[in-house]
Parts: sequence; structure tokens; C-alpha cells
Amino acid sequence: MAQKIQAIRGMNDYLPADTRVWQKIENTLKQILAGYGFSEIRTPIVEHTPLFQRAIGEVTDVVEKEMYTFTDRGEDAQSLTLRPENTAGCVRAGIEHGLLYNQEQRLWYLGPMFRYERPQKGRYRQFHQLGAEVFGLQGPDIDAELIMLTARWWKALGIAEHVTLELNSIGSLEARAKYREALVAFLEQHVDKLDEDCKRRMYSNPLRVLDSKNPEIQTLLNDAPELFDYLDDESRAHFDGLCALLDAVGITYRVNQRLVRGLDYYNRTVFEWVTSALGSQGTVCAGGRYDGLVKQLGGHPTPAVGFAMGMERMILLVQAVNPEFVADTNVADVYLASFGEKSQSAALMLAEEIRDQLPTLRLMTNHGNGNFKKQLGRADKQGAKIALILGEDEINAGTVAVKDLRSGEQTIVARNELAQQLTLLLG
Ligand code: ATP
Ligand code: MG
Repeated sequence: MAQKIQAIRGMNDYLPADTRVWQKIENTLKQILAGYGFSEIRTPIVEHTPLFQRAIGEVTDVVEKEMYTFTDRGEDAQSLTLRPENTAGCVRAGIEHGLLYNQEQRLWYLGPMFRYERPQKGRYRQFHQLGAEVFGLQGPDIDAELIMLTARWWKALGIAEHVTLELNSIGSLEARAKYREALVAFLEQHVDKLDEDCKRRMYSNPLRVLDSKNPEIQTLLNDAPELFDYLDDESRAHFDGLCALLDAVGITYRVNQRLVRGLDYYNRTVFEWVTSALGSQGTVCAGGRYDGLVKQLGGHPTPAVGFAMGMERMILLVQAVNPEFVADTNVADVYLASFGEKSQSAALMLAEEIRDQLPTLRLMTNHGNGNFKKQLGRADKQGAKIALILGEDEINAGTVAVKDLRSGEQTIVARNELAQQLTLLLG
């Protein structure tokens, strides 16, 4: 036998049992996005590499070591990258198509992202994010509404009890530059206590030292200067405004001064929804404000705020804490069994007739004959609640036998009353 070719490590196949779960969750989330006036945007999976270098920042995990970058074919072969996130792509598209200048936009996207990371539960090399981006609004009220939208998501998915909100403000670029100096001075005094990662980051991206996972570093940081004391007045007012709004609408949060986020484009508000139910891959949704990015990528200055939610982690979480939500894996509501010579074409035609009348009904017809028991066994396997039975007698009489697979009750129904009867039985 020839050697089998397998999927790439960290890139998953989603089989029918998975996609049913995905669709259920996606539909719930999309409906809520529509309820807040958001529209979908779809951008390419591949972008010019400098887009991500400029947006995310050179000295970040993503750009330093996680991007899938390759050279295009052709004469002027350019460097291209599989998107590791999609805020940069949205901003690029928004500028390119004139969506951002002097306008408000509420956009969402859902699709695959690519990062070269060590695959493990909740961390993959191809994963999916559902993100939302709002352009053109600068007040904390839109930050609050985005967070409210996510809170509504968690309620709808039945996981609200299992996620908590961490909130911080990282201020303006200038405030961060001042803080950076103070933090570097502190780290220089304690350089002997720093691990290799932190030493490397100390000058290139010292704020990232704050979210080091090393407990000794975290202890050391208890004595470090705090970003909060360096915030500019406007950022502080913005943050106070956001907290007041969240308090008013009853969303609880924890201010985490060490939350800085891994991408360079953020300013002011940053937040993460975290869970303890998924081990170390605990961040399910993360975002913040990025008022400087549009200008930095060549557009007019445009305030912006957004977040991205990791679909795989969200699905793992729903399956772990609210499995009933995704338990319905049935494919068909009604299964059409048929017997006898003439029944094959009659069954196909009857099925079409029913689909014309009940377009949302999930109806599966039997193929490959089989005796009564076999066909009803198939009906059961597809999760059907009702079996329709069509034999020569029924064909001749213009009727169908309708069997309720839950109660076992069977009745003969005239064909012209079938749709009505099915609607009644399925509730
Ligand atoms: P982490 O700290 O877990 O690496 P991150 O800060 O790199 O996360 P973001 O870039 O903010 O993550 O992406 C937003 C969300 O996308 C994350 O909170 C997570 O739910 C999801 N995510 C990020 N990277 C991966 C991955 N490799 N596999 C699966 N989901 C991911
Ligand atoms: Mg990461």
C-alpha cells in the first residue's frame, strides 16, 4: 500500500460531527452581531508581509516566530504571509475601499488564521477567529458596547458563569514611552533575577515582561513601577468612563494592570475574557482599542476598537461546561422509507413535493432499498423523529404512512394533508 499522506500538524479537519457543532455556535454568535448592527467583511487569507510587520510590530511573538511567510511566484516575487490575525487585513481593506474616512463601521469576520506555534489543546497552527472591529468612534461607550455584545454571547452559549473579564488601559503611545523608561530602569536593577526571555525583551519590548508566565518574575514585578501611574489624563478619563458604563450595565470585571496584550497596535482599553476550564489556554477572547493603526497603515486618523475570539477554544469551552447546547447532532427530522418496485421514483417525487411545501424541514430519503427493519434503523441513526412509509398500497391509494418514532404510533395520511400533519407532529 502506498504511504498515506496526513494533515499538517496543528491543522485540523472538521468532520460532520464537528461542523454541526460549529454551525450551531456560529449561528448563535452571528445573530447577536446582527442585533448590534454589525456587517460581515471577508478579506483574503494571504496579505503582503509588511502589513503584519507594520501593524503587529516587529518585536512580537507573532512577527518574530509565528508567521507563515513565503515568496510568491513571478518576476517581482513578493513576500506574502498567511494572516496570523485579521485586524490588519480589515484596516487594509477599509483604507483601500474608502470605508473608514469620516464614517462609522461595525464589521465582523470569521475565518482561519495561521501561526507557527507548538500544537496542543486549544492551540493550533490553523485556527479560527471570529472578530469584530468598529471604526470611527472614539468614546468609551463603544468599548462598553463591544464588551456587552461579548457578554451576551456568553449568556447565549450558556458559559457566562465560566468566563471572567480582565480589563486594563495601556494609555497613549507617549504615556507608554515614559512608563517604558521607568520599567527598563527597574528591570536593569534586577537583571540578575530575569529569565532569558525577559532579558531579551527588556530593551526590545519591555512591556511584554509584564505578562511573563514565570511566577518569580511576577513576584519581582510587585515592586515594579505601575503603568497606571503613567497614564495620560485622556486615557484615564476614557478608562474611568468605560468602568462606569460597565458598572451601570452590571458587567463585572477585574482591573489587571499587567494585561498589556501581545500586539503593538493597541492603546488605551485592552481586555481579555479568560476561563479556568481549559487549562493553560485560558484566553478565549481578547481585544482593545487601536486608534493609531489606520493612520500608521496609510489612512486618515481613525479611532478604532475591536476584539477577536478563538473559535476552537470557545467550542472546547461550550463542550466542557454546557454540552447540552451542542448535543443535538441529528441530521434529519423526517426519514422517508419506501418499499416495492414502483416506490423508488415515487419516493423521490414525494420528497420533492414535501420540500416544496416545507423548505426548512430536514428530510432524508432512503437509498439502497432494505427491509422495513433496516430502513427504520437508518431513520433512527439519522436522528429522525418521524418515518414516512411509502409502499405500493400507499402509492395506489394516494396516502403515506406516518410513523412517530418516539411513540411508535402510526397513522395513514392523505398526501395532500401530509405537510400539515408533519408540521403538527414536529411542533
Ligand atoms: P495566547 O496568549 O493564548 O497565545 P494571543 O494573545 O496570542 O493568545 P490573540 O492574538 O489575542 O491571542 O488572539 C485572540 C484569540 O485567538 C485568543 O484569545 C485565542 O482564543 C485565539 N488564539 C490565538 N492563538 C491561537 C492558536 N494558536 N490556536 C487557537 N486559538 C488561538
Ligand atoms: Mg499567542
